[in-house]
This record gives sequence, structure tokens and C-alpha cells, in this order.
Amino acid sequence: MAKAYNPYENMLEVLDEAAKMLGLEENDYIALKHPERELKVSIPVKMDDGSVEVFDGYRVQHSSSRGPCKGGIRYHQEVDMDEVKALAAWMSFKCAVVNIPYGGAKGAVKVDPRKLSKAELERLTRRYTAMILPIIGPERDIPAPDVNTNAEIMGWIMDTYSMFNGRAVPGVVTGKPIEIGGALGRSEATGRGVMIIVNEAIKYLGMHDGGDVRVAVQGMGNVGGVAAQLLHDCGRKIVAVSDISGGYYNPEGLDITAMRKYIAESDSHTLEGYTAPGCRKISNAELIACDCDVLVPCALQNQITGDNADTVKAKLVVEGANGPTTVEGDEILNKRGIPVVPDILANAGGVVVSYFEWVQNIQRLIWDESQTNEMLEGIMLRAFKEVAEAKESKNTTFRMGAHMVAIKRLVAAKKIRGIFPN
Ligand code: NAD
Repeated sequence: MAKAYNPYENMLEVLDEAAKMLGLEENDYIALKHPERELKVSIPVKMDDGSVEVFDGYRVQHSSSRGPCKGGIRYHQEVDMDEVKALAAWMSFKCAVVNIPYGGAKGAVKVDPRKLSKAELERLTRRYTAMILPIIGPERDIPAPDVNTNAEIMGWIMDTYSMFNGRAVPGVVTGKPIEIGGALGRSEATGRGVMIIVNEAIKYLGMHDGGDVRVAVQGMGNVGGVAAQLLHDCGRKIVAVSDISGGYYNPEGLDITAMRKYIAESDSHTLEGYTAPGCRKISNAELIACDCDVLVPCALQNQITGDNADTVKAKLVVEGANGPTTVEGDEILNKRGIPVVPDILANAGGVVVSYFEWVQNIQRLIWDESQTNEMLEGIMLRAFKEVAEAKESKNTTFRMGAHMVAIKRLVAAKKIRGIFPN
């Protein structure tokens, strides 16, 4: 039985190990073990039936040493402060790995948004925004979409913040609708980044190529759906996908375009009820263990654990989701010689294009999509190379390599700025 999983302790364990590899004294990086600021709010919402419900909300700012804090907002019924703290730290590491001038933050509301009407969801979002308003802003902390939040919700956040300021402030949030300052290419950026990293890792590891690499993707949302589509479009064989309703396996390859169309048109916005010739229904546990070459978890954290890591048949794991592999799961994969490209590198495409969106907003510029995609690719490939070099320099894992690159940059920034007051 795997030990109880705490994402914050998971983050601290990896941080300590990477710092040790870099030869850092605890004094050099102790600040990274503590978020700079944690805000917990209670959000009263008038429900459609006239009753009032109160939801827990969070915003955590982990580090602002390298720039304004940056990180998504998640709506989920099981979220808690430790999860948000871990996600905020991973954002600091992620921004440092790809070397964009941001620190890390994360926000969340403990809610199952499927149980809310659209009007209730909007009231919840606007009240949450008002309650975290003192600590967010284009120069302070810039939210973005995450699990169960989307461009429309970012639009409500932008509008609420702008109403309080008496002027339009598009740079307060990224992942907005294009019409109010969203960046072309942002909605696809995380999945596009995952596709770039999967292809680069296949090349780096010298895995057999030429279109016959078989890929399994867990999660068919903003990250997994786009990653599956783009990998399919560039000739990879997607043999398995899943979402909250379960999964599908076809050794000959799935029709990802048809599956995404089905999700978009179904009432539940899931694969529930999907059928196609040669397609076998599988569970999420079976997807993790399915016969494939590359496993790309793009749903939630804590999916590859001490309990199931020894069932993984893939030769490479690329983390599209944040924290999908626990420390125990990671150890088992390492022992089995299965490389894991970590979240802080693999899913950084979203924050990179969020950075492009923010740059355009504060300069009142509009870039075209091809410029965005080209710059995204350049940044992802450079980051992969730097992580691979760090990994090779200590003969360690991609995860340690990525954390070494990130922690080195965060510690350098902290050292240069010093501790206030001296
Ligand atoms: P999303 O809400 O758009 O999609 C989540 C997908 O996972 C859905 O298909 C859902 O059905 C599926 N899912 C939920 N629970 C599941 C379960 N128990 N088993 C299998 N599938 C399940 O969310 P997203 O934006 O795609 O985010 C997915 C992950 O990627 C999260 O860990 C998020 O933090 C991370 N991430 C997102 C972005 C972004 O830009 N959206 C950026 C970086 C990292």
C-alpha cells in the first residue's frame, strides 16, 4: 500500500534532493520551502434557489524573486491548501526552467463546478476575484486557467478587476477570450508544448521513429485533448485516451479528431457513450498500464503511484498534468529505467504563451499565431536542452535536471536581491 500522498511534502522532497545535487547550503534555498504569501477566503454565493452557500477559496504566492507571480486557478471539490501550495511552488520552478521573468502562484476554489448553474459559477468567480483582489494585478500576480476553469471564467475575472479599477486592465489575467486581449495560440499552448517535448524526448532517447511510436494520453481536456490531437496530426499513433468517464484503446490508433468532436458536442462534455470500430473500453487504471511506448498523463495529480508504477508498460512518461507521478511512483519508474519528463518542463507551454499574452497586453500589441508558435517552440527546445545537459552533468533524471536548472535560477535571483531588511 502506498503511503498517504501530500503534494507539498512531495515538492519539498524533490527540492531538497535537487538542492543537494547543486551543492547548496540550506540557507541558500530555505526560503523556497515556504510560500511568500497564503490567502484563504470564504466566498458567499447566492444560489439560484435563493439559498446562500459558502465556498473555500485560496491564492498562494510562492516566490516573486524573478518577477510577478503567475499561476492558474483551479475549481475542484477536493482541493486543499497543501495542494495549492505545491502547485504554486511548481509554478515558480516552471517559470524558472523556461526562463521567463515570473515567480509562481496558484489559486483554487473548493467546488464541483458541474453542480453549479452558469449564473452561480459567474457569481462565485466574481466574488472570489473581489476577495483576492488586493494581492493580484498585472505587476503583482497574474492568474490563468487550470482544471475546470476556462477563457470565459478568465473574462469574468478581467472584467471584475477592471470594474474595481475603473479602466480596462487586460494584463491582470491570461488565457482570456481573444476579443478582450487573449493571445492567439494560448488555448492550445500547453498541449502544443507537450507535443514538442514528447517529440524531442523521443528523438533524444533514440526511440524507434517514423510514425510507429504508440502514445497513450490520460485526460482529454485543454492539455490532453490538444496534445493528443497535435501528436496525432504529426503522425504519432494514439492508441489510448481517457477522461473522467473512462478510456478507450485501439492498437491500430484512435480517431482523435472524431473523439474531440464527440466531447465538444456531448451534453456531459466527456467521452461517455463514445463508440467506434476496433475501439475497446478501458478503465483509467488500465490506461496507465496499457501497451504503448509513451504515456502522457494530462488529467490530475497522483495518477502514477507506488501502487501502480510497476504496471506501466510505456518506455517514456511525459507529464502533461501537474504532479501526476508521486515520489514513490517516480522511484519505481526510475528503478525500472523508464524516463519521466517532468511537469515543470513538459507542460510549461501554457505559461510561456501566457507570458506572451501579458507582454502583448501591457504593450498594447497583437502578435499573429505563427509568431507565437515559433517562439514557443524555440523556448521549449532550449529548455529541454538545458534540462538534458543538467541531467547528464550529474547522471540523474530529467526531473532532477529540471529542478536543478530552476532552483539555480531562483537561488541566484534571491542572492542578487538579498533579504530585506539586511
Ligand atoms: P481540463 O479540466 O481542461 O481537463 C481535465 C481532463 O482530465 C478532462 O478530460 C477530464 O475529464 C479528465 N479527468 C478528470 N479526472 C480524471 C480522472 N480521475 N481520470 C482520468 N481523467 C480525468 O484541465 P486541463 O487544463 O487540461 O489540465 C489538466 C492538467 O494539466 C492539470 O494537472 C493542470 O494543472 C495541468 N496544466 C494545465 C495547463 C493549462 O494551460 N490548462 C497548464 C499547465 C498544466
